[in-house]
Amino acid sequence: MNSESTVFQRIITREIPAQIVAETDRVIAFYDISPQAPVHVVVTTKDPQYQNVVELAAAAPELLAELVAVANQVAVQLCAGQFRMIFNNGALAGQTVFQVHAHVLGGDLQEGKIVG
Ligand code: AMP
Repeated sequence: MNSESTVFQRIITREIPAQIVAETDRVIAFYDISPQAPVHVVVTTKDPQYQNVVELAAAAPELLAELVAVANQVAVQLCAGQFRMIFNNGALAGQTVFQVHAHVLGGDLQEGKIVG
């Protein structure tokens, strides 16, 4: 359970700007401010209560499925539907924002580096 407001909540409420690329009632996708690939989009749930994908999968698997569908839609738009999806789980794994989110990485990643 997440009690603190995250930077993603401030993007969702439009308190801070972001380049939004897709949005549903429950999910939002925007360009990562510090891209690690030619295409790097963050896809997160609007409900901040899930800190990571393990919590989300256990509590609301249909919302996780919606997040994945939005990620795919973004990838179809931006990188021919081919992408790498990364969930960082925990600070030791590189997670810095504790509101569940996927990194959608696309472009030519054969030689590319990954987030981490
Ligand atoms: P993680 O390290 O997995 O928690 O990922 C958090 C991601 O959020 C990082 O890749 C950051 O670059 C990204 N990020 C942080 N602040 C912003 C922002 N204001 N707009 C877009 N992306 C952001």
